[in-house]
Amino acid sequence: MPNCPMCQSEYTYEDRGLFVCPECGHEWSENEEIEEGLIVKDSNGNVLQDGDSVTVIKDLKVKGASGAIKQGTKVKNIRLVEGDHNIDCKVDGFGPMKLKSEFVKKL
Ligand SMILES: [Zn+2]
Repeated sequence: MPNCPMCQSEYTYEDRGLFVCPECGHEWSENEEIEEGLIVKDSNGNVLQDGDSVTVIKDLKVKGASGAIKQGTKVKNIRLVEGDHNIDCKVDGFGPMKLKSEFVKKL
């Protein structure tokens, strides 16, 4: 049995699919314990995590910049975010920007 998430009691029991804590009266279901994190995958389908380093797999045009981010550019310490451009990072020579995970490869 898992400990009570509210009071950490060890004396929990299961009742009709719910876990019950006799000490604080908290009831919860197993499914609530599973947190749905943000899953972002690179071009190869590898799951990326905050702090990963990646390389860019194709030249990417940058709005407002004279050049493009070149294929093979290393990007360190990425941060995953929600949305279409799901990688928040700093690219050397370009500064902070957002990239699409489909255009990078985990190092
Ligand atoms: Zn409890």
